[in-house]
Amino acid sequence: MNGLKKNPLLEVEGLVRHYLEKDSEIPVLRGLDLNVFPGEKVAIMGPSGSGKSTLLNILGLLLPPTAGRYAFRGRDVLQLTRTEQAHFRRSQVGFIFQSCDLLEGSTVRENLEYPLVYADVPRHERAQRISESLGVVGLSHLLNHAASHLSGGEKQRVAVARALVNRPRIILADEPTGQLDRDNTEKMMDYFSGIVEERGVSLVVATHNNLVAEQCDRIYHLRNGLLWPDDHSEGV
Ligand code: ADP
Ligand code: MG
Repeated sequence: MNGLKKNPLLEVEGLVRHYLEKDSEIPVLRGLDLNVFPGEKVAIMGPSGSGKSTLLNILGLLLPPTAGRYAFRGRDVLQLTRTEQAHFRRSQVGFIFQSCDLLEGSTVRENLEYPLVYADVPRHERAQRISESLGVVGLSHLLNHAASHLSGGEKQRVAVARALVNRPRIILADEPTGQLDRDNTEKMMDYFSGIVEERGVSLVVATHNNLVAEQCDRIYHLRNGLLWPDDHSEGV
């Protein structure tokens, strides 16, 4: 990993997030700092309820922080208008959620085409993007299959392909291997590593899985609303 010589892709400083519950504010993130460099894989570990999803949702501009700074390629993205934030999500970020959330009534091709339509990618370019992304996860042969007929592992791979189809700069993956066996988990990390190396994309992955974390350049533990570098990985 030689990304440290470059400028960070994203810089988060003093990130705070509270949730309001029965008139009291529950702190989840308490002033967290994080830098992610281009082409870097960062694992966020931590028990259920520690705030991993909250952090990823803030990084993807799906959730506003209560306080803090967030710069993406040097730009303060928290100041963007709603329209600009939507554009940011479509063009810069690939999301992978634990549940995959594929549209079950649609084909694999359609699932990959929707994000391209939203991002105004012209029709003639879509087929190429779709076949390229499916190729990365080795599922080109399932192009016209119904999403509802795929196995759990295949769905998860389609979710990866869908996250790539807009050629994002960062992939935010929320426990992407939660439902996968060891073989499929290793495959998934191979896809991520390939993408990160070939395209300089960055990955932030929330995970409970040591196999996943070990494949990352840095491992953090989310505890008490802050990120703590893993004893065995180099912190920044
Ligand atoms: P993780 O992904 O690590 O399991 P989350 O970010 O989902 O953690 O949740 C962190 C904490 O915030 C949990 O205690 C959870 O109950 C709480 N929380 C998450 N979302 C909301 C919400 N929309 N309203 C109130 N509390 C929430
Ligand atoms: Mg979560």
